[in-house]
Amino acid sequence: MRDRFPDFRLGTVLATSFTGTLSERRGNPVERIPTPHRLVDWLVVSGLAVDTCTTAQLELARELRESIHAAATAAAIEDALPASAVQVINDCSARGRAAAELTPEGERRWRLSSASCVEDALSVIAADAISIIAGERDGRLALCASPTCQAAFFDTSQSRTRRWCDMNTCGNRQKKARFNANQRKNPRPAE
Ligand SMILES: [Zn+2]
Repeated sequence: MRDRFPDFRLGTVLATSFTGTLSERRGNPVERIPTPHRLVDWLVVSGLAVDTCTTAQLELARELRESIHAAATAAAIEDALPASAVQVINDCSARGRAAAELTPEGERRWRLSSASCVEDALSVIAADAISIIAGERDGRLALCASPTCQAAFFDTSQSRTRRWCDMNTCGNRQKKARFNANQRKNPRPAE
């Protein structure tokens, strides 16, 4: 039964969707890829389908994830990039042999070197992270305004003023918290 696992929060940016598989890092962290199977599920929905995943590959994936998180956070606050995180991202990027392919419909898909090559999938994610952190893409790295989250996300809104990593979770919770605080400050007058 896979449905007892926490849902994925899928964004439109591969690298930060991946870092979002661990959420609430500053609160009670929610691990959304707790098992190798769950990483397989995530890769499938992210266009990087693999058949199998070992525990060691899951560990490698989590190491890459936390390295992307660390480097993206540093980039968002214009801090120096942590050398160890950069090393992990570069190693993962170099290790994979994924090829971009054009479909007859004109879309890009990834072809991995084998159906069990999680490393190929991780290289695609690492390269995606590099393009964002290097500032190659149109958007801005920012940190989620939720104090228990502070996830790095890629803001592609026109005004570049997005505040939350995810509108449906962090954004909603913050709105509710503010609403409740206002209710306490301005209780309704007795009628
Ligand atoms: Zn958030």
